[in-house]
Amino acid sequence: MPRGTAVGELAALVRDHQPVVVLTGAGVSTESGIPDFRSPETGLWNLVDPMEFASVGALRQRPAEFWRGFAAVFGPSLAARPNAAHLALARLEAAGYVRSVVTQNIDGLHQKGGSVRVLEVHGSLRTASCLECSRVVPLTEALAQLEARGVPLCSCGGALRPDVVLFGDPMPPVFQRAWREAASSGLLLVVGSSLEVYPAASLAEVAPRVAIVNLQPTPADPVAKVAIHRPAGEVLSELADRLARFARL
Ligand code: NAD
Repeated sequence: MPRGTAVGELAALVRDHQPVVVLTGAGVSTESGIPDFRSPETGLWNLVDPMEFASVGALRQRPAEFWRGFAAVFGPSLAARPNAAHLALARLEAAGYVRSVVTQNIDGLHQKGGSVRVLEVHGSLRTASCLECSRVVPLTEALAQLEARGVPLCSCGGALRPDVVLFGDPMPPVFQRAWREAASSGLLLVVGSSLEVYPAASLAEVAPRVAIVNLQPTPADPVAKVAIHRPAGEVLSELADRLARFARL
C-alpha cells in the first residue's frame, strides 16, 4: 500500500466513528527512549526476568533486590520527554477527535505531552505507597531512600511499594472506567501495544471497531479496520495534520 494511503483511511475512520478512544502501550514511548517489553532484541524481556522486579512476590520476598531492579529498569523513564506520538494525540484530543486515552504505560508521558483525559490502567511512576499505613509519597522520595539506605521505608517503618500494577496485583478500579470507555466508543485506536497483556488487551475485544498502529502485527490485526505497521510518531503526526486540514475545509 502506498505511503499515506493507510493513514488517509485511518483519518476517515476517526472522522466517521466518533467518539474515538485511544489505547496505548509501551510502543508509544519507545521514541522517547523508553524500551518496551516485547520488541524483538530491544524489548526488556530479552534482558531481564519480569518476575525478579515486577511482581508482588519479589517485592515481598526480596524487597531490596526488587527495588534495585525496578529503579534500574524504570528510573530512567522519569527524565523522558514526550515524543511526536504523545504530542499528536494531545492535538487530536484538543481538536475534539479523541475523547480519552487509556494507557497501559506508567511513564506519565501522555500528560506531559498535553493529553487531559488519560486513564492509567497500570498505575504510574509518580508515587509509591506504604504497605502498612497507606501513606503516599513521591516515587522520587522512595528512590532517594533506596540510594541512602538500600531499601525504601515509610516514616511508620512499613515497606514502600511503587504505585504500579505488578504481576500478582488486581487491576485498579479505573480499569472498569476504561472498559466502559472502550465499549461505548465508535472506534478504539490501539497504538504501540502487542495486545498480549490481559486484561488490558481485552479492551480491543469490547470496542465496536479497532484500528492498529504498531510496528509488529498484533492478534487483533485480522479484525482491525486498518492496521499500520510504521512508527507511531510519524503515523500519528500525519493523522493529526490530515484531520487539522479537514477541519479547516
Ligand atoms: P509490549 O512491549 O508488549 O508491546 C509493544 C509493542 O509496541 C510491540 O508490539 C512493538 O512492535 C510496538 N512498538 C515499539 N516501538 C514502536 C513504535 N515506535 N511505533 C509503533 N509501535 C511500536 O507493550 P504493551 O503491549 O504495552 O505491554 C507491556 C506492559 O509493560 C504494559 O503493561 C506496559 O504498560 C508496560 N510497560 C510500560 C512502559 C512505559 O510506561 N513506557 C515500558 C515498558 C513496559
